[in-house]
Amino acid sequence: MATKRDYYDVLGVQRSAPKDELKKAYRKLARQYHPDVNRDADAGERFKEINEAYEVLSDDNKRSTYDQFGHAGVNNSGAGFSGFEGFGSVSDIFEEFFGGGFGAGGRRQRQGPRRGADLRYDMRIPFEEAVFGVEKDIEITRPEICGGCNGTGAEPGTASERCPTCSGSGEVRRVQQSILGSFVNVAACPNCQGAGEVITKPCQTCNGRKQVQKTRTIKVKIPAGVDNDTQIRLSGEGGPGLNGGPAGNLYVVIYVKKHDFFQRRGDDIFLDLQINVAQAALGDEVVVPTIDGEEKLLITPGTQSGVVYRLRGKGVPRLDRSGRGAHVGRGDQHVIIQVAIPHNLTDQQKKLFQELSRTLGKEVVPQQKGFLDQLKETLFGR
Ligand SMILES: [Zn+2]
Ligand SMILES: [Zn+2]
Repeated sequence: MATKRDYYDVLGVQRSAPKDELKKAYRKLARQYHPDVNRDADAGERFKEINEAYEVLSDDNKRSTYDQFGHAGVNNSGAGFSGFEGFGSVSDIFEEFFGGGFGAGGRRQRQGPRRGADLRYDMRIPFEEAVFGVEKDIEITRPEICGGCNGTGAEPGTASERCPTCSGSGEVRRVQQSILGSFVNVAACPNCQGAGEVITKPCQTCNGRKQVQKTRTIKVKIPAGVDNDTQIRLSGEGGPGLNGGPAGNLYVVIYVKKHDFFQRRGDDIFLDLQINVAQAALGDEVVVPTIDGEEKLLITPGTQSGVVYRLRGKGVPRLDRSGRGAHVGRGDQHVIIQVAIPHNLTDQQKKLFQELSRTLGKEVVPQQKGFLDQLKETLFGR
């Protein structure tokens, strides 16, 4: 795919279209282009495009990212689009068009067990929940084996029968004449898609698709210490396997909301703290917020702007990379000091500063000259 079409164009809606309009447009197009009903050569591609567009635009977060950054904003995860992956039958149709359908090997592959699709769920959680962990119920809509037909696609009580077109072989052979002589062209049977048998009466629950979309509530345990892009794998909670294959996995991808004043880098937390000139000069005992609550911090006399105090063990629990949610200690909190220079002084404060200035004055002025001289030397070489 060289150029990607605009998602709104794909669904044929305005950029301002509300959610229910998106859904309506999506349903209509999905019905129209579903490869089970549409035999056009490019229906599969169109169907994929439609699902991808809807997957992004139906999610408020992804939609706003897409509106801002276009395809580049929503396509860099690499984990695939759950909406598209969710339709197990799409991949069947791809094989029919793009190989797998030639010769006996392809047929065996199509009928063998196949693992279900992996699904993805994006979850935004507050800063504190990422630090301490949380358990959440999520609601996902995913394909499942149809209960009406147990995944056979045939209405209960009816049996599938041998495909009359290929006599059950799943292949059709055609002898073709060319200037090089005649050769046999083997292709997947168009009537049964290579299965060798056809369903006489499709299951009414799933229309013969073998799968139905089900909405489920799933408990997700988020371990303490997760960060942006952490993936939590829920084995077997993805799409159903085909022909007895195992189900796929569900991946919950974490996005951590920004905190009002804490910033996080790895397992460490950073906090900018403003103190006044007197506190910086004379020292003080102040109270600072940490993720565990308030903590006393001793400011030593003569503290400059940019000085960093470290509160050991007050950072984020360190996730053991290999283990499953196990922790190895905690990071630290770093308190970065900013000394605030007062403005809008009261008369009394002004007087006190003037008094202070008389005691400091002689020391300050020569130092500044020295600095300028040094600068001149560096710039002009004297
Ligand atoms: Zn069914
Ligand atoms: Zn056939």
